[in-house]
Amino acid sequence: MAVTWDEVRDRLHERGLRWTPQRRLLIDVLSRTDGHITGAELVERCRAEDPETTPSTVYRTLDVLEDIGLIRHAHGLDGREEFHVRPAREHGHLHCTVCQRAWEIGADDVAGLVEEFERARGFRVDLGHLSVVGVCRDCRDAADL
Ligand SMILES: [Zn+2]
Ligand SMILES: [Zn+2]
Ligand SMILES: [Zn+2]
Repeated sequence: MAVTWDEVRDRLHERGLRWTPQRRLLIDVLSRTDGHITGAELVERCRAEDPETTPSTVYRTLDVLEDIGLIRHAHGLDGREEFHVRPAREHGHLHCTVCQRAWEIGADDVAGLVEEFERARGFRVDLGHLSVVGVCRDCRDAADL
């Protein structure tokens, strides 16, 4: 990862964002989060510690944090943004429409597809933004699909 949580303050300053208690709290909550979290969940967790938290500040700060490479977003089943906190490796997601669970897919899983798009169309796939929707094995077994 290019930036550490300690450097965030300086990077936010460079972008003209003041280091406010709300932002400090957001960074703190993010640094304690493993895996994926939605903007709404973040607002909720921040509000639990500071009821004054405003969603617009949270979302604007998230945009900048993504700009500087600290977090990334992907899209869940309903299209809502889910933020990956400190992704260890770039990955896309499989979403099951029945049980609503999600799994990570790595570069190896989609290498054939990615190469074919690149070769045939000159199109570069953004793996971290790739969401594939379908039905998982458990749900297919259970429903005999
Ligand atoms: Zn997106
Ligand atoms: Zn993810
Ligand atoms: Zn399922």
